Amino acid sequence: MLEIKVPIHLIKNISKKEIEEIIKHLFGKVEKYNIKKEERGSNTGQYIIIQGNKTKQYVCLSRENPQEGRNVFALQNLSTSLANYYNDEDCRKAFSYYIRGVNKPHAHSILFAYKCMVTAKIRILNLDNVIPAERAGFFDYKTPFKDFKQMRKCRLEISKKHSRNNPTVFEEIGNNICVYGKTFGVNGRETVLICLALKKLTDKNIILYNTRETTDIHGTDVDKSNLTVLEKIGVKIEDEIMDLPGLPEDEKVKRDVRHYHINLLRKFHEKKCYLCECDIENLIIGSHIHRVTDIKNDTISLEEKNRQIVDGENGFWLCANHDKLFEYGLIYFEENTMKIAEGLTTKQKEFIKKITNLKKDEEFRINEEHYTYTMHEYLEKHKKRVK
Ligand SMILES: [Zn+2]
Repeated sequence: MLEIKVPIHLIKNISKKEIEEIIKHLFGKVEKYNIKKEERGSNTGQYIIIQGNKTKQYVCLSRENPQEGRNVFALQNLSTSLANYYNDEDCRKAFSYYIRGVNKPHAHSILFAYKCMVTAKIRILNLDNVIPAERAGFFDYKTPFKDFKQMRKCRLEISKKHSRNNPTVFEEIGNNICVYGKTFGVNGRETVLICLALKKLTDKNIILYNTRETTDIHGTDVDKSNLTVLEKIGVKIEDEIMDLPGLPEDEKVKRDVRHYHINLLRKFHEKKCYLCECDIENLIIGSHIHRVTDIKNDTISLEEKNRQIVDGENGFWLCANHDKLFEYGLIYFEENTMKIAEGLTTKQKEFIKKITNLKKDEEFRINEEHYTYTMHEYLEKHKKRVK
């Protein structure tokens, strides 16, 4: 006989059919069961516990209606359920996830959350029954991401499509994966899921930089259950809170590299050299078009200076070679077309073409969607400086 612990706030809401479906997924058939109502606060996890002879199964439930569209549908209850699961010292415990309203269309952002769970090796009991929304197109949410770059690109593309800001992003720096994300609210839950998936995708240390937007007036406290999960899986959390966008609290111009990187990732979705596609992240530099030293000397307000320093339009990702070539003006842009400085020898010009993957008469052009008017203005300033 199975004993099923269901919190009181859930018992009114969960159907008999759902309970029996969960049992069927876990044990292959509907075993006899007893429901035991549990006193739990409504914010301490929408999960049930199924105690069998051999195992104790934690089953986290999604929210009920995927047509809400937002990934909060999938993520609302995950951290709290996981935190309770991790805190349980019973060594026969197991964790799985059950999707409610499975036969209603699921948006892209929800499917992305499932793919992250699959990557994190969280067992989703009824993933096969999910109906993807037509707008989500073909998206393979049933197999894990092959690496962290693929996961990041996917996340940023979805966020662009749905013009939703503030996705949790990350980059490789030295031996670390630096994650920039919130630790509270829905974004906080996403941060947790992304860290869970990253744990399976890389052996590197994961360091979380706590971010908050200046629009977050309320509720910027770290969510306790998020924190528990992050600690249990060994994510290091940096105490310093990054303000996005950086409001000048003092009189100094701030060179906020991480914030700049977040904005570059949000613009380009990938961290690889814009000119040669080198993707060894430790070789890739967030390269300013209008340099920080020059911004500091401009006659503009402090606030505007700090904005331009972190502006994603004011730069590219470039490899160490291309970064130096660009900084010293050995390459520059005429509108959106890359030019090589006149003063170089034929052999040197050929070298630059070679490392930019250009054939003899080929020219490099900035992609139309990246060549915004703002970027154009920065490039004009660069050209004026180097020519
Ligand atoms: Zn390059």
